[in-house]
Amino acid sequence: MNRLVYLDNAATTKMSKPAYDAMLPFLGDWFGNPSSVYSIGRGAKKAVENARDRIAGAIGALPEEIFFVSGGTESDNWAIKSVAQMMKSKGRHIITSAIEHPAVLNTLKHLEKEGYDVTYLGVDKYGQIQLSELQGKIHSGTILITIMAANNEIGTVLPISEIGKIAQDNGVLFHTDAVQAVGHIPVNVREMGIDLLSFSGHKLGGAKGVGVLFTKKGLELPPLLHGGGQERGGRSGTENVAGIASVAAALDDKLLQLPSRSVTQMRDRLINGLLAIPGSRLTGDPVNRLPGIASFIFEDIEGEALLLMLDQCGICASSGSACSSGSVKPSHVLLAIGMPYEAAYGSLRLSLSEGNTDDEIGYVIEKLPGIIETLRYMSSDE
Ligand code: PLP
Repeated sequence: MNRLVYLDNAATTKMSKPAYDAMLPFLGDWFGNPSSVYSIGRGAKKAVENARDRIAGAIGALPEEIFFVSGGTESDNWAIKSVAQMMKSKGRHIITSAIEHPAVLNTLKHLEKEGYDVTYLGVDKYGQIQLSELQGKIHSGTILITIMAANNEIGTVLPISEIGKIAQDNGVLFHTDAVQAVGHIPVNVREMGIDLLSFSGHKLGGAKGVGVLFTKKGLELPPLLHGGGQERGGRSGTENVAGIASVAAALDDKLLQLPSRSVTQMRDRLINGLLAIPGSRLTGDPVNRLPGIASFIFEDIEGEALLLMLDQCGICASSGSACSSGSVKPSHVLLAIGMPYEAAYGSLRLSLSEGNTDDEIGYVIEKLPGIIETLRYMSSDE
C-alpha cells in the first residue's frame, strides 16, 4: 500500500488497541442481551455498567448521570430539545455561539421554528466569545446556555469553567458539546459547573455509533426513545454493548496519555512549518487550542482542490468548506472569526492523534509548499 498519512482525527480516529480488545468478548461469546437474566446477558449488563462507572469517573460525574446514546449528534439533540421542553414554562430563550457544530446549530434552528428565541454570540478572530456579552444577554426568560467546549474546525478551546460560573450565578442550565474535548483536554463536570455534556466515542479511539450524555443528578430529561425502558427509561433500545465497552477503554487509555505532549509538539511543528508558506495564516486561538488541531487559511487556494492533491500524496485532511447539494460553501466558523468569504474557501484542517509520527509531519511539511504553489499557478492560468 502507498504511504497513508492520516491527519483527519477530528473527523474520526482509528480505534485504539485497548478499545478494540474491549469490544471482542461482546462480539463473540458474550453476545447476550444485557436485559436477559442468564449469564451471558448478565455479563453484557455488567460490562455496560462497568463502562458507565469508568466514564463517569473520567469526567467527574456519578454513574447515574451517564446515558449511552448513538453519538454526539444524538446527545446534543436530546440535551437541548429536552431542556427546551422541560423549561418552557419559565421561558423560551437560549444562548449559544456562532461557531457550534451543526448538531447544535440545526437543533436550535428547529427550536426557533417552534417559537424559541436563540441568541448566537459572535466570536473574536480567535473564535472566543466575550463573557461580558454572554452575561449581558441573560434575562429572566433564559433557560439554557449551550456552548461548545472546543471547536472542531479551528481547535479553539472555550472558557467552559467561566461560562459554567455565569450560568450557575444566573440560575440558567448549561450544556456543552464536548465532542472534541473529552479525552483530549481535562474535563470535569463538577469543577466546571456543567449541567449537561455531550461527547462521542469515535473521536477518542472508541467505536462509531456510541455517544454519551451526562445530565446532572435531579434533571429528569423526558425520554428520547420510548420502548423497553433501557438507560433508566430515557433511551430505550438494546444497548450497543461492544461499542460502549470500547468507549470506556478508549477514554481510560486517552486519559493516561494526557497531556498529549507528543501530539502538541507535532501540532506546533506543523504550524511552524506551514506558516512559512507565503500567504498562509493560522486559524483559531494560538494559545487556547486543542493539542491535536492545526488549521490554516492559504490565500488564493480552493480547499477542495487542495484536499484532492493531498490525497494523491496519501495525506488525509479536511477543509472547513462543506460540500452540500453540489455547491461548496465556506464554513460558518471561518466566517464567524471574520475571514473574508474568498479566504474562507482556502482552509485546511490537519488533526492529529498519538498514532501520528514525526516522520509523517516532516512529510507533510515537505509536500505542502509544492502543492500550494502548483494550485496557485494553475488558478492564475485560468
Ligand atoms: N459536535 C462536534 C463538535 C463534532 O465535532 C461532531 C462530529 O464531528 C459532532 C458534534 C457530532 O458527533 P457524531 O459524529 O458522533 O454524531
